[in-house]
Amino acid sequence: MSLMKPPSETLLKLISEWHSEAIASFPGALNRDRTGVMIHGEIGGAAYIRLDGSIELEPWDEDPENPWRSDPNVVYAALVAALKKWPELAELMPDRQPDSEDCLDCGAIGHFNRGLSLLCPSCYGLGWRPQPNPSLKEDKDRSSRH
Ligand SMILES: [Zn+2]
Repeated sequence: MSLMKPPSETLLKLISEWHSEAIASFPGALNRDRTGVMIHGEIGGAAYIRLDGSIELEPWDEDPENPWRSDPNVVYAALVAALKKWPELAELMPDRQPDSEDCLDCGAIGHFNRGLSLLCPSCYGLGWRPQPNPSLKEDKDRSSRH
């Protein structure tokens, strides 16, 4: 489950402009079914924003079982990285949860500045731990019932 916030009308309009622009001039920036525009690309795959404001992860490989595809933490990391170029996407960032703790690995800033600016892998660039992970909790509840 992702903690991402729903997009505003303004952002939806903007996404639709990006989408039309990509169709007209940068078809390579579209996802496979052409419903989303690439906002971030990296070694494992790319993140696309769809017309409804949702984010789709598309790994470069075709494996439907690739865990990268549905991991909400990869979505956060892609969103944080995409904000540099697309600051309008900031409104989708999850609100810090009241019970979440500062990330100690990066000093709660979400990245490391050592020559290269690298996203913190412990908090996915958020600066705080998006915990508890609801999907892990569900699994635990389910297994304890049996
Ligand atoms: Zn961190």
